[in-house]
Amino acid sequence: MSETVDFQQLYEELFHANAASIGYPCAKDYDGAEMAPFLNIALNNVGDPRTASTYKVDSRAVEREVVRRVADWVRAPEDDRWGYVTNGGTEGNLYGLYLARELYPDGVVYFSEDTHYSISKNVHLLNMRHIMIRSQANGEMDYEDLRETLRIHRDRPAIIVANIGTTMTEAKDDIGRIKGMLRGFAMRHYIHCDAALCGLIAPFLEPRPPFDFEDGADSLAISGHKFLGSPMPCGVVVAKQRNVDRIARSIAYIDSLDTTITGSRNGFTPLWMYWRLHSLGEEGLRRRVNTGLDNAAWLLETLQAHGIEAWRNPNALTVMFPAPSKAIIDRFQLATHNGWSHVICMPGVEREHLQAFVTAITEQEEA
Ligand SMILES: *Cc1c(COP(=O)(O)O)cnc(C)c1O
Repeated sequence: MSETVDFQQLYEELFHANAASIGYPCAKDYDGAEMAPFLNIALNNVGDPRTASTYKVDSRAVEREVVRRVADWVRAPEDDRWGYVTNGGTEGNLYGLYLARELYPDGVVYFSEDTHYSISKNVHLLNMRHIMIRSQANGEMDYEDLRETLRIHRDRPAIIVANIGTTMTEAKDDIGRIKGMLRGFAMRHYIHCDAALCGLIAPFLEPRPPFDFEDGADSLAISGHKFLGSPMPCGVVVAKQRNVDRIARSIAYIDSLDTTITGSRNGFTPLWMYWRLHSLGEEGLRRRVNTGLDNAAWLLETLQAHGIEAWRNPNALTVMFPAPSKAIIDRFQLATHNGWSHVICMPGVEREHLQAFVTAITEQEEA
């Protein structure tokens, strides 16, 4: 690098950018100073979280506790569950699809057109046959299109990727309904839930949406830096132990219990996630969900009162509205797609931030 970085100045710039951002799903209601001492340790959770390693500088015991708590919330079977702390939703999605492919090498993957780009990348990496299903206007899978497509391919196992909160509109696919359809066709199947956005929101919603293992999921991926919040990307993948055992066996010839995607794995993020989950507790998580819902309801109502055609999915933290000016998109870091933008009322996004946004967008409308 030819220029020296001015860390003080960079910190200030980032501090302000962090405070101003309301368009991406990153919770920011934390102060990580308490966890900073661990940055001086050469942590590495290499290998399976359940097996010991000669390398002792790890946080695997804490990692197992993070997985246990999350597995409880997503109602994974107590006698058939396995999981690990990933690098984020993308790795969890890769893992779920990898397990599905090992189970059904001739399976066809189905996912809606509103699905996150990590899924098309992952099916490409894994060289899996896939078919895209139409979405409804709200971003949810078009179940009639799914039914017709499944009917044509009913001789092959179906691998469904269901969205539990799409990236753009936070739509949730109904896996109970999808499961019923697959049973009706008597098809062999596997359901992976991409719950990167809502995996730690959905368990606390009323009514609880059909999204988890008891509803029919075989694996589920969550991002930790989204609703929970983290200064570095992380996540959790939960799957069924007996499916994971298949891949452990299939590589037994290299004499390893290498069950994870990467070899060396982050030992800090499991500590971080545990610290967040434990200090917030179930009540804290529930309270943050309700605050976000209240903020989203307020924002929707306020925008509509100003004549803006805003809308949101039921129980979503995401509020959709026609894309504003480039200046406003830049100032508030608004994700924009097909002429629509959104604000996501994540923990750490306060009313005053939303009010500043409303003022900016209504001034633009009047100008
Ligand atoms: C964010 C997101 C992902 C990707 O997760 P990363 O943690 O960024 O890898 C996948 N799917 C959905 C629906 C997401 O919102």
